[in-house]
Amino acid sequence: MVKNLSRKNRNCWLEPEACSRDEIFSFCSDYIDFLSECKTERECVEYIQELALENGFVPLDTLIKKGRKPVKGDRVLVNHRDKVMILFVIGEEGIEKGINLVGSHIDTPRMDLKPSPLYEEQGMALFKTHYYGGIKKYQWTAIPLALHGIVIKSNGEKLEIVVGEDPGDTVFTITDLLPHLAKEQMEKKASEVIPGEGLNFVVGTIPREYNEDGKSIKGVKDAVLELLKDRYGMEEEDFISAELTAVPAGRATDVGLDRSLVGGYGQDDRVCAYVSFRSIMDIREPKKTCAAVFVDKEEVGSMGNTGMQSAFFENALAELIALTGGNCGDLQLGRALSNSCALSADVAAAVDPNYPDTHDKENAPRLGNGICIEKYTGHRGKSGGSDANAEYIARIRQVFNGSNIIWQSGELGKVDLGGGGTIAQFLANYGMDVLDCGIPVLNMHSPFELASKADIYMAYKAYTAFYRYME
Ligand code: MN
Ligand code: MN
Repeated sequence: MVKNLSRKNRNCWLEPEACSRDEIFSFCSDYIDFLSECKTERECVEYIQELALENGFVPLDTLIKKGRKPVKGDRVLVNHRDKVMILFVIGEEGIEKGINLVGSHIDTPRMDLKPSPLYEEQGMALFKTHYYGGIKKYQWTAIPLALHGIVIKSNGEKLEIVVGEDPGDTVFTITDLLPHLAKEQMEKKASEVIPGEGLNFVVGTIPREYNEDGKSIKGVKDAVLELLKDRYGMEEEDFISAELTAVPAGRATDVGLDRSLVGGYGQDDRVCAYVSFRSIMDIREPKKTCAAVFVDKEEVGSMGNTGMQSAFFENALAELIALTGGNCGDLQLGRALSNSCALSADVAAAVDPNYPDTHDKENAPRLGNGICIEKYTGHRGKSGGSDANAEYIARIRQVFNGSNIIWQSGELGKVDLGGGGTIAQFLANYGMDVLDCGIPVLNMHSPFELASKADIYMAYKAYTAFYRYME
């Protein structure tokens, strides 16, 4: 029974018929494990792929090699460069009639190592970083950081490196000035307090050798290189063909006396990614083919061969049409894309009680008030965003209301204060209908983002309803 409450300010915690607390807490405990274990796009792809393969998904390449035609209920997986994953569940209708797609991104702001990162200064060895995504740089100093990533040696051997996550493991940190000597620093604008070239983190302080006078004749950098050689068989030049990144160390966690929130790094947008993954895993024999897309590079504009602007998605869909329909011309692919319905599953900016004036109160997403739909994103006069058609939003409302989904409608914030975009515009370029629809978060792009457990669970119900009932 849906209570006769106004749509605005429905609170998930007060509607146990719509979401039981046991289910909320159990779902989010699994989510906290995922968030703690997967801190790069590669780690997310590995996690999703492993569970998908265990649950009946078959790589598209395997089907192509065998020339096997996927039929209703078949589960197909596409791994693109280990940074993008697409999961398909084949429906009863032909793919040309369109698919139901939920797209999220699995990249997050972080500190990437520069191609030549290692140097020595003041008797300390440090790694230089180049930050990735939109950050407030001052939030990333004086906190424990872990190192994640891969190194490809010149012989092609791949090293997978994670340092700083296990209890008792060593961590890293970017140093910052003490307040006592920060008079000049504190007078700077917040955007200039920490310069981009000041985001270097300490990796060692023990020099390699001493001479008789106790002075170092070989430096700390040499000692670190020796350590890398011993531990990983790595040469200095190997950094050139590496993707190593520093991210906040440690596990995601419950927040609040009532444990109603999840706190952790990377919830933009791994929260929507995890939820849509769980949703598509539940889908069996749908009417329309369902797809979950997990993409990279959203935080830097969806560029590159693993961003949503790359052709990987249409290529995968074309392969699938060719397998199911026998041939695939541009016309079939065009029909499939333009007949499709999409949710751009990305986080919304919840109103912050410490800064309530950044939002128009009538259009402010609130923690606990359910999944948030945003008709459009963008900057100033809506530039750089996708604006969903009214007709499409009405259909989504119908699906959500029919499944007792608690949802809210919001905008990114006050019109003149800034703005942002999602992958919605790139999905919209295919001609398909697309709506931004995700979980509100606080502390977005910081090392410790917050989301409401009730909204997370409600998003899982919402994406599942979309897959099942969107026609
Ligand atoms: Mn995002
Ligand atoms: Mn973001």
